[in-house]
Amino acid sequence: MGSVTATSPKLVTPMNIATNAAPRLQVDQVTLQYKTPSGDTFTALEQVSFEVPDQQFAVLVGPSGCGKSSLLYLTAGLAEPTSGEIYVGGQQVDGPGADRGMVFQSYTLFPWLTVRQNIEFGLKRRGMPAGERKDIVEFYLNEVGLQRFADNYAKQLSGGMMQRVAIARALANDPQILLMDEPFGALDSQTRLQMQQLLLKVWEHSKKTVLFVTHDIDEAILLGDRIFVMGARPGRIKQVLDVPIERPRNLDMVMDAQFIRMKREIFHLLHDDA
Ligand code: ADP
Ligand code: MG
Repeated sequence: MGSVTATSPKLVTPMNIATNAAPRLQVDQVTLQYKTPSGDTFTALEQVSFEVPDQQFAVLVGPSGCGKSSLLYLTAGLAEPTSGEIYVGGQQVDGPGADRGMVFQSYTLFPWLTVRQNIEFGLKRRGMPAGERKDIVEFYLNEVGLQRFADNYAKQLSGGMMQRVAIARALANDPQILLMDEPFGALDSQTRLQMQQLLLKVWEHSKKTVLFVTHDIDEAILLGDRIFVMGARPGRIKQVLDVPIERPRNLDMVMDAQFIRMKREIFHLLHDDA
């Protein structure tokens, strides 16, 4: 099992922004501090650096409060680091953008739109012609198994189905990177397993670069190519682990010896923090 260092030298410079050498995502010495109501400074993330190369499924795993969501919000451009920089495709993040697709735990669909209209939303806003939109929407409806529900209103769907739409909507926009913050965290365990299986399949087809947040160790190993184990107080990356399990993957693999070995290793990394 390969451990690699979390900190790396600056790779993105104006010289290589346009080349394939730049990682898809680079988080460079990011510190995030919040001001508490009493006027103190709380450090949510301290000097966090890591990279995600193109087509990698990266997972942030760590205890509640270690700054996973904060890191995703910063990457989404919904907040700004106190210091440090984040680059997506060599471009410094300085606000939200369609180049970053997001799927969060709380359902973020437009309830008054149908499944199809939700998936189509970003494409329409970009002014894509109707014919082209239709093909993309059909493709993703099929990917997430919702053809029969295309004309249902989002508000009529179950939680698992809503997250299918959210995944389809994010991918339909063909973002540079997909940011997922505990997307299955609110689902019952059976639905959660189904969604993990579905995401494995969809990812196999799209090979999209992903930054996925979870506090579920099984989920992290099952889905991830590389796992960043985080610690709290202050939020930081404690360890980087490459997942040596072959793809395509399936749910049975949680019983493999190497899966269990890795699970134990991550469990101890997280447990030592407590
Ligand atoms: P995680 O997603 O890993 O549970 P978060 O990123 O949500 O962690 O939060 C990291 C830490 O920052 C937590 O201690 C949380 O209480 C704190 N925090 C998050 N948002 C704010 C905020 N707006 N103001 C003050 N503290 C915050
Ligand atoms: Mg969170």
